Amino acid sequence: VKPVAGLNCGECHACQLSAAGTHGDFRWIQPEGKSRAIKIDQVRAAIEFTHQTAGFGQRKVIVLAPADNLNHFAFNALLKALEEPAQDTHILLLCHRLHGVPATIRSRCQKIPIKVPSVEASIAWLNEITGDSAVSARLLEVSENAPLLAQQLYEEDSADLAIERRLALRALLAGKVSVTQIWNLWGDVDSEVFLEQLASELRYAVRTSAEDQSRSERGKDLFRLLDEALRLLSAVRAGANPGKQLLCDSLLSKCHKLLAGSSAASAQVITS
Ligand SMILES: [Zn+2]
Repeated sequence: VKPVAGLNCGECHACQLSAAGTHGDFRWIQPEGKSRAIKIDQVRAAIEFTHQTAGFGQRKVIVLAPADNLNHFAFNALLKALEEPAQDTHILLLCHRLHGVPATIRSRCQKIPIKVPSVEASIAWLNEITGDSAVSARLLEVSENAPLLAQQLYEEDSADLAIERRLALRALLAGKVSVTQIWNLWGDVDSEVFLEQLASELRYAVRTSAEDQSRSERGKDLFRLLDEALRLLSAVRAGANPGKQLLCDSLLSKCHKLLAGSSAASAQVITS
């Protein structure tokens, strides 16, 4: 109620409710249970909330995190809410990958880039979660210095397995290992997680490759594979249920076939 230097005072009733996570004019929407995406029912409930009167008689705030991971139907519901905004309501969409949010949504939002914290700050923060600075450093490295992604990796799997999977995909895309050498690492991962990890590694390969990506054959192959992984990912999020083994195996083989030949490391390739 009485902000101090632009921040909340920490003392009033509203601040106490916020600290306890029970402020009635605030909703933090995130994936529930085992799901990795916010569901349409959650988006609908959030929109319904925007039409209620604020309990404190002022504003309501909704955060959707992550906002780049909604399925087609949830995005459509959200779009309607953005086209006909409720009064005195702020909707914050948090994401790491802006291109994961449809242009129709993006064009109705104000973009506020948030800088990635320094490696030192990220490791200090991760240490509070992992309790092991060597683990924190490796998690941060495989997450390309994105601390929230590193936290997510740590919480999803045992950290070692998460790191091993990332590095295995990276080695496959570099043509250093074959599909059969790394296949067993995805035994109990669902298709969505597998496709997300593959897409993330393909993006990493695009970004870190020194060649002029738009011209080189390898660059074109990387983009093609990324498109295919993203297309399959949105199909899976919309409810498609392709056999995981078939899906992963064919996609990984394709990656291996296309990229191994053009990779500098092709001398080490073992055919699968
Ligand atoms: Zn306060």
